[in-house]
Amino acid sequence: MVSDCHTAPERMVFVPVIYLDITIRMNFFAIILVSLFSVVANAGPAPNQAASRTWITNVTIISPENLDHVGKGSVLIDNGRIVSVERKKEAKKPVGATVVSGNGQFLIPGLIDSHVHLAAVPGMTSDQSQGKPEMVKEYFKQLPRSYLYFGYTTLVDLAVVHREVLENFRQAPLHPDLYDCGASLVFANGYPMSFLPRPTRFIPFPNFIYDPKQAASIPQEYRPEDHTPAADVARVKSSGGVCVKTYFERGFADDKNLPVMGTDVLAEIRKASTEDGLVLMIHANAFEAQTFAVDGNADVIAHGMWHWGDLDRSPELPSEIKELLDRIVEKKIGYQPTIQVLYGELAYFEPEYLKINAIAKITPEELLEWFNSPEGNWFKKELNEDNLSDATFLEMYERGPLRRVRQVVAYLASKDTNFVFGSDTPSSPTYGNLPGLNGYLEMQQLRKAGMSLAQIFRAATINNAREFKMDSQLGSIEPGKIANLVMPKKSPLERVDAYDSITTVWVHGKAASRRSLAVNSNE
Ligand SMILES: [Zn+2]
Repeated sequence: MVSDCHTAPERMVFVPVIYLDITIRMNFFAIILVSLFSVVANAGPAPNQAASRTWITNVTIISPENLDHVGKGSVLIDNGRIVSVERKKEAKKPVGATVVSGNGQFLIPGLIDSHVHLAAVPGMTSDQSQGKPEMVKEYFKQLPRSYLYFGYTTLVDLAVVHREVLENFRQAPLHPDLYDCGASLVFANGYPMSFLPRPTRFIPFPNFIYDPKQAASIPQEYRPEDHTPAADVARVKSSGGVCVKTYFERGFADDKNLPVMGTDVLAEIRKASTEDGLVLMIHANAFEAQTFAVDGNADVIAHGMWHWGDLDRSPELPSEIKELLDRIVEKKIGYQPTIQVLYGELAYFEPEYLKINAIAKITPEELLEWFNSPEGNWFKKELNEDNLSDATFLEMYERGPLRRVRQVVAYLASKDTNFVFGSDTPSSPTYGNLPGLNGYLEMQQLRKAGMSLAQIFRAATINNAREFKMDSQLGSIEPGKIANLVMPKKSPLERVDAYDSITTVWVHGKAASRRSLAVNSNE
């Protein structure tokens, strides 16, 4: 791919989201998921049906609006909602409630991951997954459970390419609540449609933005008036989307000069999104791109800043970048560092990665076997065309994009930044971004980069809920809210691995033990 290892990571780390779109073919998931649907439809009770009254008692309640007053108490769930929260040790058992003792444990709100891509199978190209329908079917069957296994009870899919995948996800017997941004607003011939062959690249992007200057290279069947920012946003709204996703990405490698939208186009997207009450999210991982996002008043910047352009070699965080980050703080723009995008690629160079215990809990056996096979490592060759040693490859990322994104996150963590938690799972066709686990690994990265445990906790609960205007329903443990709850054995305010000590998850009041959410569980 490259010959100059100093610039290699600059190009490679643009890979995210590209392959996502390349690997997806129009009719492939439809075939597999029809059969998956029939399995799920016969599985019994209605999805996420609420259990009867449940009283979780003698538990340490940690809720973001009350972090200064963490203490023991009881929470009563009825009909899928939290009906009362008592912050005292001795409480009287409500009539007719099933009692769950949380003795020695903690109760936190269900976690929210506002950056996922459900339709993409980690580690696979479309050809590979087409040849392995059984393996892929098992993957999708486990998918909602893997997110719950790590406590994620609410997800936002940023770029819908196969609505059937989302519909089937919502039909699973137990699944996280799922919201989406509809089909994303891609600038004509820009990222990421640029990675598809010209004649057909517009097909998977029904909400692309028409660019009159490129009329000659846009197929004639598309009428400009159907692809204005306003028309695109209206389609997102009518499809039930809660957010709009767009991009500012000049590209890399052979495609370094991709067309990008101007400020006028972003202003139109901004206006239409505001009118329709949709959250505006922008893919931006470079200094220039995040400047564009801030100037255009985006609500959420969907990546960390690992490209600093001409300032890439600066060992310290440059003052120009600090000034931009100050504006991000001041405008309360939602910020998703997504450091796991980089580690998703590095996973192929970390011999211990596939040995992480949780991987066998959330990955169907056959798929995991395949990840471990030579064929399953195809992406490593793609990433490392120069055949660098694993150590050299890791080092290159460490001193380049990882160093830069950590410096940015550390600076933002020292301020009152509106971090919103998003894992970008999977960000490329990598087995390094597995559902649920990837969010947990992202939290570890955020901690390592300097975010406090309280910042991480708020980012994954109330900040996300507020950003997506769901805070009347989600994000804290308060009466009236949906009973999406997680019970870990350790406190997430004391250690980040608390998020891997979960024993029970409630979705709309329905309980599931963590064990029962693992692959091959008989519970
Ligand atoms: Zn993404």
